[in-house]
This record gives sequence, structure tokens and C-alpha cells, in this order.
Amino acid sequence: MVKSLKIVLIAICLLFLQPPAVFALNFEPFEQEAIRVVVIDPGHGGEDTGAKGPSGVAEKDITLSIALKLAEALKEGMDARVLLTRTSDVFIPLEERTAFANANRADIFISIHVNAAASRDARGTETFFLSMDATDEDARRLAAFENNADSAGTVILTDGGDLRDILLDMASTRSHHESSRLAEAVHLSMLGKAGREGRGVKQAPFTVLVGATMPAVLVEVGFISNPSEEKWLSSRKDQELAARAIADAVVNFRNIMTKRGGLIEISGKRIEN
Ligand SMILES: [Zn+2]
Repeated sequence: MVKSLKIVLIAICLLFLQPPAVFALNFEPFEQEAIRVVVIDPGHGGEDTGAKGPSGVAEKDITLSIALKLAEALKEGMDARVLLTRTSDVFIPLEERTAFANANRADIFISIHVNAAASRDARGTETFFLSMDATDEDARRLAAFENNADSAGTVILTDGGDLRDILLDMASTRSHHESSRLAEAVHLSMLGKAGREGRGVKQAPFTVLVGATMPAVLVEVGFISNPSEEKWLSSRKDQELAARAIADAVVNFRNIMTKRGGLIEISGKRIEN
């Protein structure tokens, strides 16, 4: 009797000592998901002018203008809610922009910026997704500039801890992989459709992309510090061209993600998928 009670007790203990179930990350197939919400983030605004061109054009005005055109193009091209972090010349702290995208359960987050360099010859488009390690010294400097543009002083790069944790979490997530593919798609479309010179898809620690739970990219459309690019960026026609090129990549993004294992075509350029 005592012996069988012992066996029962041991059996009960073993039940509770079962090793924990192994939880696997089980991602839904891409094709089942439609893009329902897109958040567009026009860089800077209000007292934060961003970079300035030789003739005084402010980055904040270019980014808003392209973002509004991008919103229109997306509404035409797809059945999705298109939201902007700002629609006028107001200051929005960087972390609020990402929080806005998360709160609205955005499927895509696109931050629009324009670049600046000491050399007036610098030109072309760079498309970024988030990473702890910048692709190169220029990318690191650019991220520092964009991060410090936040007058609320919320840059978390110096602290390192929070950002490091987020980035480590993020590195293995699907949205990070998708961010890299979205960056590729946007970049190729800017080259093929808007005729931009490409400086590459790059990675850098941009505060505005930290914490985004969806595929998120930052497009540096062109160099406002270059007089001819400042002109291009200020032209309504060319802004429209840039907006349509980005929209084209977003509209086709899910198709791009579903066609795996072969070569696919984006805006006339073939990339390996
Ligand atoms: Zn900027």
C-alpha cells in the first residue's frame, strides 16, 4: 500500500517535472497576409528643420511633400489605410513616430528623409533598415545626425543597453528580414522607376526605426547638400516620381515576398529572391 502510494506520488511529481514544451517561432505564410495599414513618416518638422540645401530648402519641407504624394499614390494603388505621422509642419519626437505605427498596427513603416554631406558632389539614394552596426562610417554618421535631430533628446544610442536588447531581439525576427527585403524593393524601384542613382541598401541604428514591430525602412531620397539634387528634390514632378517609385515597391511587396526561390522582377530590374 505504502509502496503503491509512493509510486503514485512519484508519478505525480514527474508530471510536474515534465520539461517545458519547446516553443518554435511559427510564422504564417506571407501570402496569407494583406497589407492593411501603411504608416508614412515625413522626417523632421517644426523647429527641427533637418538638413538644409545651399539655396535654403529645408529637409522637413521636402520630406512632407514627398510623403503626401506617396500617401496619394498608395491610396490609388492599393486597398489599405494610409496614415502619416504628420501632415503639417509640426515637431514629432522620434519615438512617438514608431509608437504611432505600432498603435495603428501598421504592416509597413516608411520614414522619408533627405541626405546631406560635406561634399557638394555627393548624390543618389540610400535605403536603410535598422541594425546595430552601421554599414560604413558615413551610415553611422548619418544615423547620428538623424537621431540627434530629435530635439527632445531621446537618443538612446549612448546608453546602449536598451537598444542592444531591442536589436538582439529584432535580429532574429521576421520583420527584420522583411525590412531588408522591403529596403531592397524600395531601393530598386527608386533606381528603375525614378531614375535615381543608387548608393546602396544599408543598415544603421536609426532611433526612428527602433521598436517598430513591422517591416520598417528609412529612405534618404537624395542629397539636399548637392545643388542639382536640391533642385531635383524641390521639383514637384520629381517628388511625384520618387513617391510613385516607393509606392510601387510597397504595393508589390507581398508579391515579392511570396515569390521565393527564383528571380523576380521589380521595376524592370531583376533581383534574386
Ligand atoms: Zn533627416
